[in-house]
Amino acid sequence: MSVLGIDLRASGKKPSAVAILDSGSHLTQLGSCYEDSELTDLIDEVRPDLIAIGAPLNLPSGFCCLDQSCDCHFSVPGRKGRLLERELAKMGISCFYTNKGSIIRELIYRGIRLSQDLKEKGYNVIEVYPHATKMLLFGDKLPPKNSAASVAYMIGHLTPLVSGMDDHSDDLDQNSCDAIINAYTGQLHSRSDTDVLGDPEEGMLVLPKLPT
Ligand SMILES: [Zn+2]
Repeated sequence: MSVLGIDLRASGKKPSAVAILDSGSHLTQLGSCYEDSELTDLIDEVRPDLIAIGAPLNLPSGFCCLDQSCDCHFSVPGRKGRLLERELAKMGISCFYTNKGSIIRELIYRGIRLSQDLKEKGYNVIEVYPHATKMLLFGDKLPPKNSAASVAYMIGHLTPLVSGMDDHSDDLDQNSCDAIINAYTGQLHSRSDTDVLGDPEEGMLVLPKLPT
């Protein structure tokens, strides 16, 4: 069961980190892709059993777009985002709400486009959220993202879970660690060690199994 994790960037002009884990959670490949065509070419070459993308992959119910000038609106009154985002907030996990004021609109559009393309080609695609996975696996005392301590913290916490990290030590940064976390979340999903939030219409977020 191979899983490909992507830390997707909003623009194809910036590198989206990609990590591939084999069935034994060994890191077989770590790299980056720019345009969607480069990502899909890599995926067609590797043919992973599961693809875990760290970006919103659906719009809220009632939305056809995120354009302020369009009349589409939340079909559930009083909503600020998707159901899964509301559920995350209740768990104390911060996230961006998917709505027309979103500052990550381009990332959302790209995530939707890419995941639809991949699903049409027959791939299994799941939405993951690296910050949520980290909080559930490593606790809520995470160093601030983009701090120097954060990369060291992630490497320290991922090394017991994922083998082969040493072979890629030169390429380990915040983005590549997030791609590995995304792939690892997919690996947990393949072993039924996950829970899901949200609903099928607005998108399901895959998380490590929640404490009961
Ligand atoms: Zn619309």
